[in-house]
Amino acid sequence: MDNQRHNNHGELIRVRFAPSPTGHLHIGNARTALFNWLFARKNNGSFILRIEDTDFDRVKKEYEDNILKDLKWLELNWDEGPDCGGNYGPYRQSERINIYKEYANKLLSEGKAYKCFCPEEELEKKRKESLSKGLPPRYDGKCRYLSGEDIISYEKQGIKPSIRFEVESVLPFNKLKAHDGLIEFEDMVRGKMTFKGSDIGDFVILRSDGVSAYNFAAVVDDALMKITHVIRGEDHLSNTPRQILLNQAMGFDIPCFAHLSMILGYDKTLLSKRHGATSVKELKEEGYLPEAVVNYLLLLGWSSENGREIMPMFDAIKNFSLERVSKSPAVFDIKKLRWMNSSYIKNKDITELTELASPFLAKKCISIEGIDKNWLCKIVDAVRDNIQTLSDIDKYTGIFFDELPVPSPPLKGVEWEGEADEVLKLFKEKIEKEENIAEDVADKIIRSIKEKTGLKGKKLMMPIRVAITGKTEGPELKKIVAILGKERVIKRINLIQEFYKHLL
Ligand code: GLU
Repeated sequence: MDNQRHNNHGELIRVRFAPSPTGHLHIGNARTALFNWLFARKNNGSFILRIEDTDFDRVKKEYEDNILKDLKWLELNWDEGPDCGGNYGPYRQSERINIYKEYANKLLSEGKAYKCFCPEEELEKKRKESLSKGLPPRYDGKCRYLSGEDIISYEKQGIKPSIRFEVESVLPFNKLKAHDGLIEFEDMVRGKMTFKGSDIGDFVILRSDGVSAYNFAAVVDDALMKITHVIRGEDHLSNTPRQILLNQAMGFDIPCFAHLSMILGYDKTLLSKRHGATSVKELKEEGYLPEAVVNYLLLLGWSSENGREIMPMFDAIKNFSLERVSKSPAVFDIKKLRWMNSSYIKNKDITELTELASPFLAKKCISIEGIDKNWLCKIVDAVRDNIQTLSDIDKYTGIFFDELPVPSPPLKGVEWEGEADEVLKLFKEKIEKEENIAEDVADKIIRSIKEKTGLKGKKLMMPIRVAITGKTEGPELKKIVAILGKERVIKRINLIQEFYKHLL
């Protein structure tokens, strides 16, 4: 199924990501965008970005801008969208209000929809009554058969009607997908899905303020934008039977559907703010690399045949298939994301990594202005194995920038008597003899001290590490020595020898 370039009607595959700009792009939505993108790229189809911004009270332009920015950061590029246009625009629902009106009026004139004058308070009361009796909160059809005079009278009173879709205008004639009042479809992830038409009351397609309801706008847009596959979160599953009926009422082709499972937090409850960083923006700010984030998102519900986890996007495009998307909920595991991020940090081109790390150093008041780029690259290269996110970087880079780090006693793991003293003395002596101390020279010196003293491991390394960094852990010693250079290493050893004189 996935390997097709066309849907069952021979059309090119077209999918869409349709966020509502009422908040930042969160992990669940980013995963939906990624799976749509992969499906499009794998099948040489088109990936369309549509902004669903008709909830005027909650929508903010700033959120829309950020969603676009975050998608670009993740490199999920789209072929048609609000910023770049396309043949089926506009791609913002707020600019399509008249299109929805036109289709709603068409349904009205065909007798498949009707004007509803019920006041919101009355509807709310009835909804509550139904729920308290354990019944689905279905509209009772009060306005379905209003006479022409009733309608005129309401309108004369200035009451603005909403427009409701009459479910039964489609259901009894539905030979193909619905029988005996059932609405069925084959979900590409979840298999055969069946819904009872009798649970669905006539629903509003155009609100009394003239704005389209979500289900109606989505169906009209998916049809006019020639969307062949709707891939979205499982929270929309209950909308799908309604959307199928609307497609049928308007004579549109029904797209294929794939509903992605929910994402849970470590405590197996729906992922939310309580679980920490859940938006792409926050992950970016915490120093995750975009390629690690998309790779991690890929594993939230999808797995490769051979269990491979680290998978750059060009491989993911080749391997992706909706058949391998799991029906069970995915669990967001920040530890795994951190691990994945560390792996991408280890393998990133060092110039690019330094560029990305610079704002994190600047944020921690480490002034990198005027610092030689090559030297900075060496520092980032030395610490990259120790960090999981870029915001960890200052934990290890301070040792290079602080002029003379003085360790505060007591220092775990270092006995400043006898052996340590000897190691330091030898180290300084040997360094003083060298012109410059590149990594291989530092390595050679450390090895020769090992031979001479018979010391190894911590006993050998720790005094040197502590003396020149003031810390008991950090990047590889030979790298630190090479980056600091002869002069600074000697200065630091002198300092610590002075400092601990009374102990030695
Ligand atoms: N605007 C909807 C959302 O953000 C999209 C629903 C859909 O994909 O049909 O959840």
